[in-house]
Amino acid sequence: MMNPARLIAALVSLVPILAQAQTSPQAFLGHQVGADRKVADSRQINAYFTKLAAESERVSVVEIGKSTLGEPMLMAVVTSEKNMPHVDRYRAIAKRLSDPRGISADEARKLSEEGKVIVLITHGLHASEVGSSQASMETAYKLAVGDTPFDSAKVLDDVIVLLVPIANPDGLIKVADWYKKYLGTKYEGGDIPWLYHHYAGHDNNRDGIMHNLSETRSINKVLWHDWFPQILSDPHQMGATGARIFVPPYMEPADPNVHPLVYRGIGLIGSRMTFDLQSAGMKGAVHDQIFASAWWKGTLTCGATVRNTTAVFTEIAWTNIASPVHVDPAELQDFYTRKSLRYPDPWPGGWWRLRDVVDYTVKTSMSLLQTASVQKFDWLYNYYQMGRDAVEKGLPGDPYAFVIPAAQHDNPTTLKLIEVLKFGGAEIHQATTPFVADGKAFAAGDFIIFSAQPYRPYVVNALSRERRYPDDVVPGVLRDDASWSLPLQMGVQYSEIKNPFKAEFRKLDEIAVPSVSLPSTPYLVFDTRANASYAVAVALLKTKSAIYRSSGALQVSGATLPAGSFIVESTDQVKQALPALLDKWRVEAYGLDNIKNLDLQPLAKPRIGVYQSFRPNMDEGWARYVLDDLGFEFTTLRNADLKGDLTQSFSAILFANEAADRIKSGNSADSEYPPEVQGGIGASGVAALKAFAAKGGTIVAIDNAAMLFVREFGLPVRNALEGLKQEEFWIPSSLVRIEVDNTQPLGFGMPDEATAMFIQSAAFSPQVPGAGNSLTRIVARYPRDRVLVQGAMKGSEQPIVGRAAVVEVKQQQGRVVLIGFREHHRAQTYGTYKLLLNALLLPAQK
Ligand SMILES: [Zn+2]
Repeated sequence: MMNPARLIAALVSLVPILAQAQTSPQAFLGHQVGADRKVADSRQINAYFTKLAAESERVSVVEIGKSTLGEPMLMAVVTSEKNMPHVDRYRAIAKRLSDPRGISADEARKLSEEGKVIVLITHGLHASEVGSSQASMETAYKLAVGDTPFDSAKVLDDVIVLLVPIANPDGLIKVADWYKKYLGTKYEGGDIPWLYHHYAGHDNNRDGIMHNLSETRSINKVLWHDWFPQILSDPHQMGATGARIFVPPYMEPADPNVHPLVYRGIGLIGSRMTFDLQSAGMKGAVHDQIFASAWWKGTLTCGATVRNTTAVFTEIAWTNIASPVHVDPAELQDFYTRKSLRYPDPWPGGWWRLRDVVDYTVKTSMSLLQTASVQKFDWLYNYYQMGRDAVEKGLPGDPYAFVIPAAQHDNPTTLKLIEVLKFGGAEIHQATTPFVADGKAFAAGDFIIFSAQPYRPYVVNALSRERRYPDDVVPGVLRDDASWSLPLQMGVQYSEIKNPFKAEFRKLDEIAVPSVSLPSTPYLVFDTRANASYAVAVALLKTKSAIYRSSGALQVSGATLPAGSFIVESTDQVKQALPALLDKWRVEAYGLDNIKNLDLQPLAKPRIGVYQSFRPNMDEGWARYVLDDLGFEFTTLRNADLKGDLTQSFSAILFANEAADRIKSGNSADSEYPPEVQGGIGASGVAALKAFAAKGGTIVAIDNAAMLFVREFGLPVRNALEGLKQEEFWIPSSLVRIEVDNTQPLGFGMPDEATAMFIQSAAFSPQVPGAGNSLTRIVARYPRDRVLVQGAMKGSEQPIVGRAAVVEVKQQQGRVVLIGFREHHRAQTYGTYKLLLNALLLPAQK
C-alpha cells in the first residue's frame, strides 16, 4: 500500500496533467470568471459546456429542452469516469426508490448501497442575478479536473451532479446585451427596462405550480419524470446591503405536509455550507432569515420539497450585474451590523464584486456535493422512506382522495388541470364505473387522486381546500401568493374525500383526447363556457367564414348552450381547419341546422393592442402569454405609439396591472434608466386614448391600471379600497368570490359565481348610472358576505362586500372596462379569463 504522503503527492501530480487536457473557463472566455465588467451570456456558457464535455470523461451534456425564444437548455451530467457509462442504471435506481410500492426495506437498502445520490443544481433562473450562471462554468471545470476541496474521485463516485448552467437562457442574453450597451456610461449596471423572460420576467420562479413556461417544463421533467434527484440547489442573489449570503434553514413555519426528513436534510446542507464558508474565512453568512420562508410552493425549490426532494435556495448579495458595488458600513441594514447566532461573522462593508458572488456560489456548491457524498446511503434510503411514509399516511384517509368530476362548467380546462397535476408528478386514476364516496355520488370517467401516493405532500398541498395559515400572517411568511389552489383558480369543481371508499378505476397513463365527430349541419356551435371555444373561434376568424355570438341561450342537438356561444358557418375551409383545432383544444362542436330566428351578433376579428411600459411588468407579460396561448393576435404598444386616431388600427387596448402614475409618467430623467426608455404615455397618450374610447374603441384596464382611467377620464367610479390601512383591510394574493352577470356580453360564458385572484386589488363603487354621457354597468361584484375563499385576510371584509369587481363605463361610442382583480394571474386563473377575452372581443362601435 502506498504511504499516504506519497499517495497525495501522486494525486496532486495528476491534477496539472488533467488540467492541461481541459480548457478552463478563463482560457475559454479570455478573462477570469466573474471579472469586473465581464459577463458571459448564455451562448458563451453553453459553448463552454459543450467544449468541456468533449474534453472531459467526467462531463457529458444533454439538451433538456428549448427556451421560450428557442435557445437550447443544456444540462451537464458530471460524475466519475467509472459512473459515467452507467448513469442510466443509477437513474433507474433513483426512480425505483422514489416509489416504495413493491419493494421491501431490504431491497431499498440494497438499491441505496448500489445507487448514487443525484444532485440537481440550477443556475441563473433569475437572469439578472448573473453570478450563479458565471459560477457554473467554474464549478464544472473544477469537478472535471479535480480542483476541489475534497477527493473529487470519491465524491463523484458517490454523486451524479446534474448541472443546469443557465435555467433562463433568453434572460441572460437580454441582460448581458443591456449591460454591455451601457457599459462605461452613467447607466452602467442599471436594471433592464423590460422583462428578462419573454413572458414572465422574475415570475419565472413563480411558475412551479402551473409550469406554463417551456423552461419550467424542461427542469420539472428532469425532476419528476427523468432523474428523480434527492437533492436540488438553486442559487439566487438578493439585496446588496445585508448579509453576503443567505443559506437555509428557512424561517418558520413548517408546512405540515412536508416530510420532516426534508427539513432535516435542508438543515444539514445549510449547516455545512455555513461551516465551509466560515472555514474558508468567507464572512457574512446568515440563515433562518425573514424573507426566506418555504411556505408557498410556487418556486422551484419549495415545490420540490413536496416531492420528497431536499431542496435549498441560497441568496448572495447583489452586484450591479458585473459592476462592483461599494457598501459603506453606514449603509448596512441594522441586523447586519452586529454578531448574532444567525449571523456570527458580520461582513464589515466595502467593495463587493461579481467575483465574490462566483466564489460564494462555487464554495456552497462544493459543500453541497460533499454533504451528498458523506451521507450517500442516507440520501437514497431516506428518499425511499419518505415515499413509503407518504403512501402509508394516505391509506387511512383524511384526506383519502380528491375527486374531480369529468363533467364541468369548462371541460377542456378540467383536462388541462389534470394534465398539469400529472406533469407535476401526481398519480391520477379514472373511475370506470359510478361510485359513492363520503356519501356523494360520482360518475364513471371522474378523476380520482388518491392521497396514498409517494408525492402525497404535493397532492394534498395542491388540492386541499383547507390550508392552515400561521395565525400571525405577515407578507414575509407568505413569501408570495397566500392561495395557490389550481382547481379554484381554474374554476374546476372537486371534492375532498375524507374516508376510504371502494371504486373501480384505472390508472391514467395518457389523458385521452375525447373523440370528436364533426356534425354535418350547416352551422356549428361552440360552448362559450369553455375557454377553448374562444381559441377555436378566433382561429376560425382567419377562414373568413361568418362567425356569430348568440345573444341568448340556444338549443343544439339536445343541449342548451348559454348566451355568448359561438356559431360558425360550416364552410369547406372551416371543415378543413377544425379537426386539428378540436384535437388541440379538446372542445366539442355542436350541430345547428339554421340560424333563423336567433338573435346573433357577428364576431369581428379583434384588433388588439397591449400596452407595455419601460418597466418590467410581469402582469403584462402573462397577459401576452395568455393571448399567445389562445391564439389571439395582438400588437405591443409603447408610449410613443399612443397617438393619432387609434381606432384605425385597434378595436381594443389592454392595460395590464400597473401603477397608474408609472403608466402616465414612466421613468424619470434622473432614474437609472437611459433617455431611450424614459417617460410614460403622458398627457398626449391619455388624450389619444380618450379619443379612442370616444370613437368606439374598448380600453381594458386591470386592477391598479384602472385608476389611471378613473382619474384621467373622470370616470364616475371610485375604488372603495383606496387609502385603507392594512389593519383595516388586507387581502393579499388570495382567492375571493365574485358574482357575475353572465347575460351581459362581458360576462358571457362565466358561471354565476366564480373565484377571483385578489392582490390588495380594487373594488369599485360606481356613482349613479346614466350621469352625463357615461353609463356604468356592473358585470361582476364581490358578494355580500363570505368574500374570502382561500388565502389570508386581516381586518374586516366590510369595505369590499357588495362592491363592483368588473365595470363597463360607456364613453360616447366606446367604453372602458375596469377589472378590479387579476383575471389572468400568472396564466393560472383560467376561471376568470373569459372576462378579459369577452372585453377584447367586443366590437368597435361606429
Ligand atoms: Zn432570484
